[in-house]
Parts: sequence; structure tokens; C-alpha cells
Amino acid sequence: MVPPNDTQNSIQEEAILRLAAIVESSDDAIFSKTTEGVITTWNKGAERIYGYSAEEIIGKSVDILIPPNRKNDFPLIMSKLKKGERIDHFETQRFTKDGRIIDVSITVSPLKNVQGNIIGASKIARDISEKKALERRKDDFISLASHELKTPVTSIKGYTQILKKLVAKDTDPSVVKYLGKMDQQISKLTNLITDLLDVSKAAQGKLDYKDTQFSLDKTIEGIIEDIQHVTDTHQILFENKIPVTICGDQERIGQVVINLFTNAIKYSPDADRVVVRMEQEGDTVQIHVQDFGMGIPPHARSKIFERFYRAYNEEQPVYSGLGIGLYISREIVARHNGSISVQSILNKGTTFTVSLPLKLV
Ligand code: ADP
Repeated sequence: MVPPNDTQNSIQEEAILRLAAIVESSDDAIFSKTTEGVITTWNKGAERIYGYSAEEIIGKSVDILIPPNRKNDFPLIMSKLKKGERIDHFETQRFTKDGRIIDVSITVSPLKNVQGNIIGASKIARDISEKKALERRKDDFISLASHELKTPVTSIKGYTQILKKLVAKDTDPSVVKYLGKMDQQISKLTNLITDLLDVSKAAQGKLDYKDTQFSLDKTIEGIIEDIQHVTDTHQILFENKIPVTICGDQERIGQVVINLFTNAIKYSPDADRVVVRMEQEGDTVQIHVQDFGMGIPPHARSKIFERFYRAYNEEQPVYSGLGIGLYISREIVARHNGSISVQSILNKGTTFTVSLPLKLV
């Protein structure tokens, strides 16, 4: 190989200096560490965010930045890096020099030597404390507002049911009909408030669960019956019913199934059926809910489980909803050590699959 001449050397040096200037002037914290976690470089952004100067921290372990409740971050990050994978926008918390805990979004990439061996990692950390504080305020507001709404709506529901019982046999049939409609709408409102309460609880990992052994197929059957009472546009066909008992929270798993059925009906206005199918593979049972509706655009498929995400918000605001049902469903399924996934073909239909272990580990 021909050694580089002086001109090539100075071009390379200039490129390195330019790169260093970019890193130095970044608002984000940019630093590197060895595979053992010893900090090797530290830019001005890192000084601003964490409060340590480069002299103070280079040579020290990244441990001093990690709060006790986030100690698992390090092995998790290292195991990914060792496989040569990078970690993108991982949201976590870090300690600053003056003892504050800040919210950061970090991106970590493996650093390799000329032989291609991993010798450490480069980290970019962005301070997202303000964004997180805003999110927390929003969650608190949603939680407070739904708590305040719950009491009056519950009593309206109670009075409506008393009224339904009180109406005499010879009452004008339209009064009975309107009372029934009123009751249905109040039930919708109650469900909406429960969902809102759940979404803020889920965000804090505080959804409550009551675990029992229950029959999954009978639970699905019961839900189909309830839904068919109020749906005359679609028929829900239950195929391959497998009698299985699982361990978990029956009401919460029911909530997931109800959400999948109501979505399947809502997003397939031109279809007349929804198919639910069970499958069992070893210690895992699967529930497939298939509709023949509009489908989900490819770019939206990975996002529909995020809080408040709605695939059709702009173009088709006709479909009512808040974009929280699937978020709550995913939380519930994860708590049961299961998974939820989606397959969809645009304008043909969508199938959601929930996999659950038979025993809660
Ligand atoms: P919501 O239905 O209230 O908007 P969800 O969290 O249940 O909230 O669903 C999130 C988004 O996923 C929906 O807004 C919709 O865009 C999309 N989606 C969910 N289920 C289906 C389905 N069966 N077919 C097409 N799109 C769906």
C-alpha cells in the first residue's frame, strides 16, 4: 500500500478537525466509552447536560451517571452493542453532577477499531426533561379529568337504570326506546372514561390486575354474545374454538378482545362479518381477530400501539376514537407475558393476533 502523502494527510486532518468542531458545538451530549464503561471523550453538550467537565469525568465509569432504578440499562445496552447493534432513541433517566435526575433520550452505536473489533461505544444523549414534564402534566390532567367525570356519569347511569325499571307497562313505547338509547350512550361514555383512567394508569405502570384461572373460549363467547346484542351490521364468527383455561385477569383480557372486536367492526364499515379463531401451540394459545375492512397503511402498522396514535386521523376523522385502545391492550397482554401483533392488507382487511401463555410465569 502506498503511504499517504503530506497533502492527503492535511486533508484528513482538516476533516477530523471539522468533525471535532461539529461534535463540540452540538447541543446534545456526545461522548464515548470503552466496553467496560470507562468514559473516553466528552463534549461541551455533555458538560452542559450532566454538569461534569471533561477533565472531571474522562477516565471515570459511566456508572456515576446512572440512577439506581436504571442500573439495568448498562447490561442491556452492552448486550446489544456486543452484537454490533445500535440503540436508537432509548428513553431513560440519568444523574447530573448536582444530584438532579433528568430524562434523556439516548442513541448508542458501537465503536470499532481498524480490525473491526468493538472497542467501545459512542453515545448521543438529548435532554428531554421538559418534554417528559409536559407529558406527565398531560397524564395528570387526563387522570384528574376522568376521575371527576366518573362520579356524575356513574350516578346518571344508576338513575337511568332505575327509570327503566320504573316505567310502567302502559308507558308510551317511544319513552322506553329513548331510555334504552340513553342507557347505551351512557355506557359508551362510561367505557370512554374507564379507558382514559386506564391510559394514565398504564403510563405509570399502575394498571390493576386480579389474577384467576378462567376459561378463555367461554370468555370470548360471552363477549361475542354481548357485542352481537348491540351490533346489527356484522356477525362475529367464532372458528376453531379450543377449550382452554388460562391464568390471568379475565376482565383485562376481555377488555383486549372487546377492543379488537369493536375496532374490527368500526374499521370495516362495508363488511358484514368478523372472524375470530383460536390456535394452540404447546403452552401458548393464540386468538386471531380478522376483519375485511380498510386495512392499515404500512407506515402506521408499527405505530398503532402507541398512545394516542390514530392512522386515519387527518383523512378520515369519521371514525370516533382516542387512539388508546391498542396501547392499553398491548400493556395488558405484556403483563400476561404475551404479545400482540398485526397483519394487514390495505383495502382487504386486518388480522390482530394475541398470543398468551397458558400459565402466568
Ligand atoms: P381508536 O380506534 O380509538 O383510534 P386504537 O388504539 O384502538 O384507537 O387503534 C389505533 C388506530 O389503529 C386506529 O385509530 C386505527 O387507525 C388503527 N386500527 C386499529 N384497528 C384497526 C382495524 N381493525 N382496521 C384498520 N385500522 C385499525
